[in-house]
Amino acid sequence: MKRVLITGAAGFLGSHLCDRFIKEGYYVIGMDNLITGNLKNIEHLFKLKEFEFYHHDVSKFIYVPGELDYILHFASPASPIDYLKIPIQTLKVGSLGTHNCLGLAKAKGARMLIASTSEVYGDPLIHPQTEDYWGNVNPIGPRGVYDESKRFQEAITMAYHRYHGVETRIVRIFNTYGPRMRLNDGRVLPAFIGQALRGEDLTVFGDGSQTRSFCYVDDLIEGIYRLLQSDYAEPVNVGNPDEITIAQFAEEIIKLTGTDQKVIYKPLPVDDPMQRQPNIDRARAILGWEPKVSRAEGLKITYEYFKSLPEEELFKKDHNTFEGYIRK
Ligand code: UDP
Repeated sequence: MKRVLITGAAGFLGSHLCDRFIKEGYYVIGMDNLITGNLKNIEHLFKLKEFEFYHHDVSKFIYVPGELDYILHFASPASPIDYLKIPIQTLKVGSLGTHNCLGLAKAKGARMLIASTSEVYGDPLIHPQTEDYWGNVNPIGPRGVYDESKRFQEAITMAYHRYHGVETRIVRIFNTYGPRMRLNDGRVLPAFIGQALRGEDLTVFGDGSQTRSFCYVDDLIEGIYRLLQSDYAEPVNVGNPDEITIAQFAEEIIKLTGTDQKVIYKPLPVDDPMQRQPNIDRARAILGWEPKVSRAEGLKITYEYFKSLPEEELFKKDHNTFEGYIRK
């Protein structure tokens, strides 16, 4: 049985990856410090003998007994509000956490895949974004802690690949959505759906002309799974090129939820990228991958998930299991 370590296992993407690897017949070791992760996302796995969980912060030295075939490093805060609340942890998990994972991969002879991001392109000056674009990032802005830790993560991963011969894979993930997102993490989709469910107005930041391209989680997981099995070490964009303005997106959510609330406008956050769309030619050519789930289908499933949550979840200020960890 192949053994895989997944960091950030209790998070949105990490938990879907755990499910996928269990389904494919792997032994899965999940790791999470539960700052932004939620054990509810993986509680169904605890009864399985092919699953174990380490409550551990990957920014500290990692010890995992036994063999490892793969390491997937998915631990990280992933919303602009989280970067503001926990900037140092955001920097550490992408830098020190990645270093620890790479050291472990080297010691175990494991193949390592890192979760990089469209944020390495910053507020991009070319459109759509191809992997050979170097980006337009403000290192000292509020998002810099995430962007730069992810850029460092790519650099150290390529260094371990080139210098130590570690087998590495880099996926650049564009905006992804689906069940198990944190309702109150501040990202646009849970924000809008949460507002609709609570009967509040939908908050569009700026004039809503900025664009994003949203990928349904099952498509993303398929792309990551294929990349891990491939022999390609350069970065690969995985996302859905179907681009939409945030104002249009708010209208779609209003239609989907049937809310009679309106859109209100708030100031655009500092360094908020104006446009974002993946060029996925590389993923098509190397992985034979492209997204299959339309936004209409994916949003419907996601809305059903949010509706199924207990009502008190809707009014929780924050879903962090370790709320006390965050200094207000
Ligand atoms: N946004 C918004 N209203 C919200 C939350 C976000 O208009 O309540 C906007 C945000 O300014 C950005 C886009 O939606 O332009 C996507 O934001 P998100 O936080 O989901 O992630 P990002 O793609 O910026 O990392």
